[in-house]
Amino acid sequence: MITILLGPPGSGKGTQAEMICKNYQLTQISTGDILREKMKENTAKAEKIRRIMGTGKLFPDKLINKLVRKKIMKLFELNGEFRLLFDGYPRTIEQADFLYRKLKKIGEKIDCVLVFELADKYIVDRISARRIDRKTGKVYNLISNPPKENEDVDLYQRIDDTAEVIQNRLEIYHSQTAPLIEYYDKFQLVEHIDASLELETVQQNIYNILDRYK
Ligand code: AMP
Repeated sequence: MITILLGPPGSGKGTQAEMICKNYQLTQISTGDILREKMKENTAKAEKIRRIMGTGKLFPDKLINKLVRKKIMKLFELNGEFRLLFDGYPRTIEQADFLYRKLKKIGEKIDCVLVFELADKYIVDRISARRIDRKTGKVYNLISNPPKENEDVDLYQRIDDTAEVIQNRLEIYHSQTAPLIEYYDKFQLVEHIDASLELETVQQNIYNILDRYK
């Protein structure tokens, strides 16, 4: 089972990805998480990643495809059964073409592309309230999904979650990533998700779809 989560920043893909992976025993491949992991190191490369990510721009396709290829091949060698969830990848037609070819080569294919739909006007507010726990990496929202009163968390805000950068990320989403909806529609893989609903409702709607592919 191979699923892709597609949608604008702040539409809840990361939060849902975690729950989906647990429920269906999928391995999550989040290119944003891989980059943020690399960014923690104290190297010149980490500094370069920090600089690019701070602008909200996309990283070069070649670099991202290389990261994904490495991850896929490692998992392919480890597991007979291939169960993946892509979150934040692909983001361009070039990345989508690469993924298609890579999977085909190893006899695999995408089962389903969940498209998270959320109007731009809600996104800036949602992302501005997003916080992440330093220790667990768990994502919270100060308004819709705050930590519990007695929860021991050390929250921080992503460097690209500021109002100006969010605007930039949204423009990039519409120009470079949204065309993938039509791309995958041609393969009849697209399922639309109303991401404006409550977290639990979105989750249930996703499960209703994914149960068909188990
Ligand atoms: P995300 O956590 O998915 O919102 O990604 C955070 C940032 O990492 C993006 O704004 C990009 O700068 C970079 N990034 C993540 N995934 C990709 C990708 N597939 N292609 C290019 N850049 C990416």
